[in-house]
Amino acid sequence: MNDTLQWTDASLVREVERRSGTPASACFQCHKCSSGCPVAPDMDLMSSQIMRLVHLGAKDEILESEAIWACASCEACSTRCPMGIDVAAVMDALRMMAVERKAEVADARATSFNKAFLTSVRWHGRVFELGMMTLYKLTSRDLFADMDKVPRMLAKRKLAFLPHFSKSAKLVRKVFQRAQEEEKKR
Ligand code: SF4
Ligand code: SF4
Repeated sequence: MNDTLQWTDASLVREVERRSGTPASACFQCHKCSSGCPVAPDMDLMSSQIMRLVHLGAKDEILESEAIWACASCEACSTRCPMGIDVAAVMDALRMMAVERKAEVADARATSFNKAFLTSVRWHGRVFELGMMTLYKLTSRDLFADMDKVPRMLAKRKLAFLPHFSKSAKLVRKVFQRAQEEEKKR
């Protein structure tokens, strides 16, 4: 993140609201979202800080943060927000904007992981963990990280060698296709 905040875009909050369909401007900084976020300790910015930066229009600081990619979309924040703000949807919108803007992320592994995850879901209608991890490792060149966990995951049958396709795989592919078409219209 830059050392100096850049107050770049007063319309950021409106754009985030349009994309997420949630009233981000209603945030009053109670921090309930970030205090319940399971990933907060690993984030460079907590969700409540991101909400504040959205209000301030600090686009660069947000879109170049690792936090938007560390978010696990668990929706705990959205459930806890007393203002009914869907904070997880805000994080989704920010990820979309970061991709469109080709924002530079300090740790590019986050975007590689995200792409590998979405590719897997697109093809199988659900995540095929082994395929996703192989793709992630090849694209990130992070070949040997976490390899020590593989034997344990195999022992607990958490890694299948062959993909299981979701019954809704075709439908999921259509959703991806539709999203791509919508993106081209922008
Ligand atoms: S959706 Fe993201 S920001 Fe919200 S609680 Fe879960 S990990 Fe944290
Ligand atoms: S819980 Fe809601 S109101 Fe409170 S800081 Fe988070 S987004 Fe803002």
